[in-house]
Amino acid sequence: MRVEVDQSLCSGHGQCAVAAPDLFRLDEDGYVLPYDGEVPEGREPHARAGSRACPERALKILATDPGAAAG
Ligand code: SF4
Repeated sequence: MRVEVDQSLCSGHGQCAVAAPDLFRLDEDGYVLPYDGEVPEGREPHARAGSRACPERALKILATDPGAAAG
């Protein structure tokens, strides 16, 4: 699973970091910092919770391409 952060949509509500502080961090003004994409195994529920918590829909959950690791 991957998470894509669209910082242009972020309005600094900080809800993502409240819902999933292990994944989403904020800058000093409360805006989400870039996320490198891949969600560590076992943290998928946190990623979904953070995404759902964002009122601006700035955090998009993307399924990892199952073919990406093959071949
Ligand atoms: S919840 Fe959404 S709007 Fe708020 S800081 Fe996180 S990404 Fe930005």
